This record gives sequence, C-alpha cells and structure tokens, in this order.
Amino acid sequence: MTKKHDKLVDLVTPSRPTGPIAHRVKGMKDIQPGAYPAWEFLLQSAGRLARLRGFERIDTPVLESYSLYERSSGRTSDIVTKEMYSFLDKSGERLALRPEATPGIVRAYIEHGWFNLPQPVKTLWYGPLFRRDKPQLGRYRQHYQLNFDIFGEPGPLAEVELIFLIHELLNDWGIEAQIDINSLGCVDCRPNYINELVKYYKEKKHREQLCPDCRKRLIKNPLRLLDCKEPACEALAQGAPQLIDFLCEPCKQHLVKVLEFLDNLGIQYNLNSQLVRGLDYYNRTVFEVVMPSESAQRPLALGGGGRYDQLIESLGGRPTPACGFALGMERLLLYLDPHKVEVSQTRPDVFLAQLGDGPRLKSLQLFEELRQAGLTVHQAFTKNSLKSQLALANQLKVKYALIIGQKELLDGTILLRDMESGSQEVLDLKRVKSIMLKRLAKTK
Ligand SMILES: [Zn+2]
Ligand SMILES: [Zn+2]
Repeated sequence: MTKKHDKLVDLVTPSRPTGPIAHRVKGMKDIQPGAYPAWEFLLQSAGRLARLRGFERIDTPVLESYSLYERSSGRTSDIVTKEMYSFLDKSGERLALRPEATPGIVRAYIEHGWFNLPQPVKTLWYGPLFRRDKPQLGRYRQHYQLNFDIFGEPGPLAEVELIFLIHELLNDWGIEAQIDINSLGCVDCRPNYINELVKYYKEKKHREQLCPDCRKRLIKNPLRLLDCKEPACEALAQGAPQLIDFLCEPCKQHLVKVLEFLDNLGIQYNLNSQLVRGLDYYNRTVFEVVMPSESAQRPLALGGGGRYDQLIESLGGRPTPACGFALGMERLLLYLDPHKVEVSQTRPDVFLAQLGDGPRLKSLQLFEELRQAGLTVHQAFTKNSLKSQLALANQLKVKYALIIGQKELLDGTILLRDMESGSQEVLDLKRVKSIMLKRLAKTK
C-alpha cells in the first residue's frame, strides 16, 4: 500500500527538491513541547472571566475578502498599505489573511443579524492574525489575539466594562501593566482638531524636522504623526495641540463619565494625549495596555482597543455603537507570572511504576481500575528501569508512587512511596484502590 502510494507521489512530483532542510517562514513561530500550559492558562482564565461577565465565545474565518479591510482598517493604514498578506484566488477574487479581528467580527454581526439578539451582544474571540511587519519582541507575522467586543451599548459603561475586564485579567495573570486612555473625539469635533494639528506641523521649523514617513502622513493621516517612533517626531508631538482641548461637549462628557467610573472602581489609568491607535475606525475613547519601560525604550504595548461607533454602518449594517479591545498572546506570555501557570496545573495523583513483565501486565489493569475510580494516574510502561520511572514521577510532582515488582506480585502486595518524604509502606494489592482514594481525599 505504501509503495503504491509512493509511486503515485513520484509520478506527480518527478524530482523531489533536495538541498538544505526546510526552515520556517521568516517571522513565524512554532509552539514547542512544554510551552502549551502557559497558553492554556491564559485562554482558560480569559474564558472564565469573560463568561462571568456575559461574553460569549465566537469565531470567524482566517480568510476574508480584501475589500473588508480596505473599507474598515482604512485605505491609508499601515495594515492595508504595507502589512496584509493578500492574493487572488483561482476565481479572481482578492482575498486576505486577516490582519486584525474586528472587521471580521463586525461582518459576522451584520451578516447573521446579531442585532436581533438581546443587546448588548458581548463576544470573546481568539485566533491567529497575519501581518507582514517587522518582527519585534513578542510580535510575529502570525500572532494570536484575544478580542473582547461589546455591541449595542452607546454609553460609557461599555468602555468601563472592558477596562475593568482588562484589569481583572491582568490581576489573574500577575502582570503589572499600565492602562493608557485618550479620546479621539467624533466626526463633529475631530476635524477642527486635525486642522489645528496640520497647521502646527506645517510651520516651517516643525515640518523640517519630520521624518519622511510623517511628511506623507501629514497629507494622508495627520493623527498618526502623534505616535511616530522617530525621536525628532516624538519631541515635536510633545508640543502639538492636544485633542482633549478640542472635544465637543458630548465627547467631553463621555470621557469624563468613563474616567469617573474608573476612579470609583479604583482602577488606575494614565491619560495619554498622544495615544491615537493606528486605525481609521476609532472614535471617542481609545485605550492601550502597556508595560512601563525599564530602559529608555518605548513601553511595549500588550494590546488595546476603543470605541468604533461608525464601523458597523460603514460596512453596510444598521447604525450600532460598539467598543472592543484585543490583547496579544505572545506579548502576554513574555510577562505572565510562571508561578500562576504552575499552580494552575493539576498534579497527577499517583504514578504507577513497575519492574518486569508480570508486574507490567498487572499495573496495566490497575491503571485502568484507578483511572475509573476518578484518580489521575501517570505511568511509563515503556520504561524498564525503576530509577527513570521515579525520576519522571518527581518531574511531574506526583504525591504518591505505587511500585510493583516480581516479589510484590507473588505476595499480592504493592509498595506505596510518599514522593515528598520518601517513606514507603506495603499495601494489600486488593485494597489499594480504596486506600488511595482515602489518602488523596485527605490531602486534597
Ligand atoms: Zn465630539
Ligand atoms: Zn515621524
């Protein structure tokens, strides 16, 4: 069967490529043995806390139409102009590997009529995103995000609920990050501000100092001048007019309410007038979760989000206020407290060790018996040496090991070893299940 199959493959690909072994694509990452417990810990904790607050898990496809992102992220955004993986499929349709989650989630909201569900609709989303940007610390070209969104809530409570959730999550993960907040105003007040901003940057002494990218931004997307990472541009941004001074009355009231609620909840934040986020669709409150920098470098962002009240309408849905945030898994993993992960791991109750063929057979039966009684049992039936089996039991931090050799098998007994104290006792093989259940009930 295998041979036939091989031949077929050879016919299709007459010469197998030779040369150095395949490497992973630049900017991509493998998750290797031993790394998953931390991922699982983050996901489980996020799922649990979000569920308690009424968020429901959803999912969307990795592939979406290119135009979805062009219409939502913004034609001039870095994502669309530089970073998207897009291609024409065989029918000539232009598709993209999703570079961010929100547009797909909004598309699903419109397409399936989630406005018919009781509002607000709160969703939790998790999955990979693809961006062909410069690989940086904790940022890969395929990276994973957790997204939390609230649809149908126009008031400041939506932002407050999301920021409160961030606060709870960070606590659960042992990550001491800072929450930056700003307001981007609305269609009524932002244009006035942008006029002033452009005026400021067009002054000769300012314009001369701008980096080439920012000179382009000045025409296409002036808000982005505020978060350029070039030192000269950063210094200029410090002296630029601040959006907060230009907010219309409703926008100002909205921001004040958000901050008041956060103060009442005892959640610390940092008002950051330079925070603009890189996307066209945000309005009013935007926020970012950053790790305070230890060196002169810019603080590293773990994620962020904001309000996007116009996005649903601009993608063809009925006007619906919405708000959301995303956290980058790989960045979170850099700062996650490893102790929290360790504590979350369930230690196996018992390790079953054996020496010789007869005892191995007996321990196979016993394994099944203990497992059915509800115990978490580990074993290494393929190992012959007792030393290496006990070394594994130690590694797994098991409390008890049960050891059976030829002598015990003949006597109808089994050896119980307390892995912490090293003390051993002989048990009746017939009674081992009930004894173990009693012992473990006591220690749990
Ligand atoms: Zn406004
Ligand atoms: Zn610049």
